[in-house]
Parts: sequence; C-alpha cells; structure tokens
Amino acid sequence: MPAKILDGTKIASDIRSEVAAEVKTMAAAGVRPGLAVILVGHNPASEIYVRGKVKVCEEVGIYSEQHTPPETATTAELLALVESLNRRDEIDGILVQLPLPPQVDSKQVLMAVDPAKDVDGFHPINVGFLSTQRPGLVPCTPAGVIEILKRSQIPIAGREAVVVGRSDIVGKPAAMLLINANATVTVCHSKTRDLPGVCRRADLLIAAIGRAGMITRDFVKPGATVIDVGMNKVSDPAEFERLFAGELTKNAKREETFRTRGFTLVGDVHPEVAEVAGALTPVPGGVGPLTIAMLMYNTVKAANMRRGSRMPELTSK
Ligand code: NDP
Repeated sequence: MPAKILDGTKIASDIRSEVAAEVKTMAAAGVRPGLAVILVGHNPASEIYVRGKVKVCEEVGIYSEQHTPPETATTAELLALVESLNRRDEIDGILVQLPLPPQVDSKQVLMAVDPAKDVDGFHPINVGFLSTQRPGLVPCTPAGVIEILKRSQIPIAGREAVVVGRSDIVGKPAAMLLINANATVTVCHSKTRDLPGVCRRADLLIAAIGRAGMITRDFVKPGATVIDVGMNKVSDPAEFERLFAGELTKNAKREETFRTRGFTLVGDVHPEVAEVAGALTPVPGGVGPLTIAMLMYNTVKAANMRRGSRMPELTSK
C-alpha cells in the first residue's frame, strides 16, 4: 500500500487560523504582535521568502515591517539596527534573513537579537532553553516537523527516531524536540557509517540533508514515517530522470512543470520511498509551509511571553 501523504499545507493553514484567532484575542486587550524582518542586499531566494513571511503576517493580523540595508552593510551597521529593534516595544519578533553577505559576522548579528524576540530560535539562550525543556522560542522548521507528527496522530514516545543532518537550524533542534517528546533518537551526518542500515532502524525518519532524493527505498523500514525537510532545486534533466523516470515515481503534472519552468523542487527523499513508507511528507507541500506558520506562532508567543502571559501551546510542548 502506498504511503499516506501527510498534508503540510493543510496543517499549516490550521495553525495560521489558530494564530489569527489568538491575534484577535490580543487585539481585544490592545496588543498587536509585531515582526521586523531584516533583509540585506538582493538575494532573489531570500526576497521570495521574506515576501511570503510578510504576506502571511498580514493574513493573520501581525504587524510587520521590513528593513533592507544594502549588500555593502557592515556588521556594525546591522548590530545598530538590531539594537534599535530590540529597544522598540511594538516589535516582538526580529528575524534576520540568512544568508548575510560575506563581510558580515553573521554569528555576532544573530547573538545581538534579544532572546525574547528571537523568533527563529537560533540564539544560544533559546537553544539552552530547548535542551533543558524550559519555555522559549523553538526553531520554526523543526517545530513544524513535530506539529506534522502530532497532528497526524503519529506517536513519538518510545519510538526509534533517526535524524539525518546535524545543522543548528534543522537537524540538532529536531533531534532535541524528539528527545523531549520521548523518542529514542539517533543523529546521523556525513561521517555516519552504514547510513542506510542506521536509517532502516527508524520508526520516524527525518531527512534534513540538502541532497535531492538521497534517501532511497533501501534506507526505509517498511511502514516507517518519513519526514522530508529537504528543499532542493533540480534543473538537470538527467537528475530529473533519475528521480522521476520510474513507474513508481512518474507524475505528469511534475513533468509538465519541469518542462515549462526548467526546474522542480525536490526533497531529500526519493519519490520511490512512497512505496515502502507508512507515511510521508511531500515536497513541495510538506514541511515547507509549516516553517512560516511556526514563525507566526513564535511571534505571537514572543509577544505574550514579553507581556508575562503564556501563549497557549500548540499540540507540541
Ligand atoms: P546543512 O547543509 O546546514 O546541513 C546538512 C546536514 O546534512 C549536515 O549535518 C551534513 O553532515 C549532512 N549531510 C550532508 N551530506 C550527507 C550525506 N551524504 N550523508 C549523511 N549526511 C549528510 O543544511 P540545513 O540543515 O540547513 O538544511 C537541510 C535541508 O533542509 C536543505 O535541503 C534545506 O534546503 C532544507 N531546509 C528546508 C526548510 C523548510 O522550510 N522546509 C528550512 C531549512 C532547511 P555534516 O554535518 O557532517 O556536514
């Protein structure tokens, strides 16, 4: 039986509705959560992400503003901007869109964000809160992974989880959230020996690698839940063929898009995995939409926490 497809678009839409309802309640108390986005220079991908974030802010009723320093901005200039946003009471969340230009010390800029406004959850203080299970701001994409599992009624406690990828942004926080939810967690990376063998132990397999279709069917225990965080642009026809030529993976709509646009978005999980897995997130339409929804959630949570009240938790603790 083919894997159940976990609909991230629908789950993200539910979360946005819940956030919008909370924003309405806050408005009645005279509070409007605010998000400031810093976008340095003209990275086309970053511009698309930021537009998406601003649009969803409007949709859920969060105030947003964009700051767009030039490509030539210095570390000192960005630090001054972050400091000014830290001081403004109507700004609850500060998001520094990465990557920053090479002359900028990204770590220093991220460290300057007030941890109470760190809606990306990257500040070491929030990393510490997560690892010690204290209330804080959790990175959006890994938080979205947990929401997909919980809202799809996929049990986590007591199960074997394997996370492939150990980045500070996805792999490590995803592993920490799974530990906190009582899974038994293994974290893999580029030096892991017998990666397919380790992955086959997983009841829950989380792929956050950045390599199109690397997780093939021989990495997956039959019936396992596979969460594909990867987002890779494939424009090479040979690569497209490798991923989508087989009987199992053929998809007329995707072929049409590839031919007209010249590229397609592919996860780290090979489409053939749908024949082995019990449940699977698609790309696009899986984890991706959750990232912005969780950013909205974090902004409202930050606004509530800064005012001494607690945001009602979503399904994840
Ligand atoms: P990074 O490049 O920071 O980390 C990749 C990780 O994968 C590293 O830990 C690396 O190991 C590991 N890795 C790379 N190659 C292999 C291999 N052959 N075998 C085993 N492990 C390997 O990426 P990110 O964590 O930032 O992102 C991962 C993916 O998730 C990307 O496709 C990215 O686009 C996507 N993403 C999607 C988001 C969304 O909203 N859906 C948000 C953020 C990211 P090592 O540490 O040893 O180098």
